[in-house]
Amino acid sequence: MHTTAAAGRISAATASSDHVATGVPTPTHCPYCALQCGMGLVRGAGGVEVVERPAFPVNGGALCGKGRTAPAVLSSRVRLTEPLVRSRVSGELEPAGWDEALDRVAEGFARVRGEHGADACGVFGGGGLTNEKAYALGKFARVVLGTSQIDYNGRFCMSSAAAAGTRAFGLDRGLPFPLADVARTGCVILVGSNLAETMPPALRYLTELKENGGTLIVIDPRRTRTAEHADLHLSPRPGTDLALALGLLHLVVAEGRVDEAYIRERTTGWEEARAAAMAHWPEYVERVTGVPVPQLREVVRIFCDAENAMVLTARGPEQQAKGTDTVGAWINLCLATGRAGRPLSGYGCLTGQGNGQGGREHGQKADQLPGYRKLTDPAARAHVAGVWGVDPDSLPGPGRSAYELLDALGRDVKSLLLMGSNPVVSAPRAAHVEERIRSLDFLVVADVVLSETARLADVVLPVTQWAEETGTVTNLEGRVLLRRRAVDPPHGVRSDLEVLHGLASRLGHGEKFPVVAEEVFEELRRASAGGVADYSGISYGRLREGDGEGVFWPCPQEGEGIQEEGIQGEGTHRGTPRLFLERFATEDGRARFVAVAHRDSAEETDAEYPVVLTTGRVLSQYQSGAQTRRVEELNAAAPGAFVEVHPRLAARLRVADGEAVAVVSRRGRVVVPVRVTSRIRADTVFMPFHWPGEGRANTLTHPALDPVSRMPEFKVCAVRVERVERVERV
Ligand code: SF4
Repeated sequence: MHTTAAAGRISAATASSDHVATGVPTPTHCPYCALQCGMGLVRGAGGVEVVERPAFPVNGGALCGKGRTAPAVLSSRVRLTEPLVRSRVSGELEPAGWDEALDRVAEGFARVRGEHGADACGVFGGGGLTNEKAYALGKFARVVLGTSQIDYNGRFCMSSAAAAGTRAFGLDRGLPFPLADVARTGCVILVGSNLAETMPPALRYLTELKENGGTLIVIDPRRTRTAEHADLHLSPRPGTDLALALGLLHLVVAEGRVDEAYIRERTTGWEEARAAAMAHWPEYVERVTGVPVPQLREVVRIFCDAENAMVLTARGPEQQAKGTDTVGAWINLCLATGRAGRPLSGYGCLTGQGNGQGGREHGQKADQLPGYRKLTDPAARAHVAGVWGVDPDSLPGPGRSAYELLDALGRDVKSLLLMGSNPVVSAPRAAHVEERIRSLDFLVVADVVLSETARLADVVLPVTQWAEETGTVTNLEGRVLLRRRAVDPPHGVRSDLEVLHGLASRLGHGEKFPVVAEEVFEELRRASAGGVADYSGISYGRLREGDGEGVFWPCPQEGEGIQEEGIQGEGTHRGTPRLFLERFATEDGRARFVAVAHRDSAEETDAEYPVVLTTGRVLSQYQSGAQTRRVEELNAAAPGAFVEVHPRLAARLRVADGEAVAVVSRRGRVVVPVRVTSRIRADTVFMPFHWPGEGRANTLTHPALDPVSRMPEFKVCAVRVERVERVERV
């Protein structure tokens, strides 16, 4: 199946050299979340099996149920193993050969481009794609299709934290320190993260923190499994974390807890940020958030008394139409108290998707070239065009963000190539997005199963999965890791890189698209060299060394960037695990305060829609569920959608646990069973977003976008909950 793209390049034999013989565990990483837990794969009596890999430092061998059962998707009976092409006669998807399928795709894009121009061709990627795939997809869009219309589902995940981090520190790396530091600090404020369910092995860092005498403060509208571990749990109304952070900063100032020397030496913009915070009186903040003033004072006392402290955010504060400012307010709190760019102190974002970090660094974002370079920067265009062997002027400019791109489908964007994403389930205002996808002239989906989005495609291309291919991912710490090919893919399946090569060949650029991941990575190194996310010093050789603990970017050259203090001990660690200790990545080396003010959510509650809906994940499903809904054990644990409702709201609605309700927003209506629980605020309901159909939470969500990050407001919208009088299937 593998072909060598050009003489003298890395051979197909090298690509499969990671394929370890039966019985010998192949060290690799979980396909799901950004923790990227280390695991070993062996072939046992029942097929591919997961074994512990205790030497990998991030998870120390522990795995959640999703990672443990991940091999089930490799041999799933619903696995796609041959291309599907929609028949022009029957209108149904029918099996086809690869040549027929790729010819049809190439013809489709050539036709759309010829009739409507290059920007009528859209490309949509995913935060789960390896660095090599994300890089190749961005290059394919700009070089082969010549389109500006590319973005990816990572825009839905952590783009607000990325924007706020870049604004404040000049650089976006989710955690600017290793997770191990979390266990050694004095206080952690965890904002909008339920990591006990989303990345359970990471919980050990919080329990170790407490065992070491540290304090855990959790901020979440729900008393989650994570909040149960907290010394102090604050439960603000969804969409008000910005006011909460500003109220805390107000108290820091009022109580004389500001670190003036740090502000003088290491920051700019304090006076404006201070003035903005002082407008947020604690009593006002209590009214907005529902968090009592004494709790606000307690947080300030604990946070400021600790010798070292951290703030970690996740999707709660980030997935809002004011997510960038909300994260910025938490960063301001860290800066005002001298808690950033110091050992064991700082701000970090708990990135969600498997390659959420690397996937946002190498060019599948609408405004970006590899290495976190800006598409609007002439020097960046010249550098990357040089690596790609094209004229810088031939590169298109920035395109639309993810939701805006989906919203444009069928209008000026007529065709779409989609890899590693299932927006029919995962996009906000999903019924509208589904309608836009249905209105396309031509849709191509590369996936491992027939997802809800793939069902709508004109051509479906069956591709390899994590364990069947080699590639790199970058975890939430900025740790670049090698995922090794452990097993052969099923006959008839090709890798995404082979798909892009096949399409590029048919469109006249095949020689620019190698199919071997290591070869693509070598090119990525050159393209990222000198950029913000500089991978030039990282090679597959270095990633294979030792126990495969990875290399932290930035790592400019072989041997440079090595910290004197390694995590595993002196001399064993490579790259830059801790950023900003000497200076921030801004031009003057100082972190930037940004003055921000609280504002309402895009859709506040009213008499017609009196309840706030917030959405999230559950332990046994992952994102749109395209993979995890195919695993029996996970489905048994989390079989379908539901809505969490407080007992007082349930009493008002006269519904009991397990009964069906309709949840209705201005964008649609779903019918789901109720879970009555006092773990949620009485003015708020919660729905997980993993399921399609009548339990699809994103039917309800609001597509309002953050003005900076273009992140949709998944976490807040107004709904009403209705008792379902007639019998409806749930
Ligand atoms: Fe996989 Fe995340 Fe679970 Fe680890 S925590 S096993 S990376 S899903």
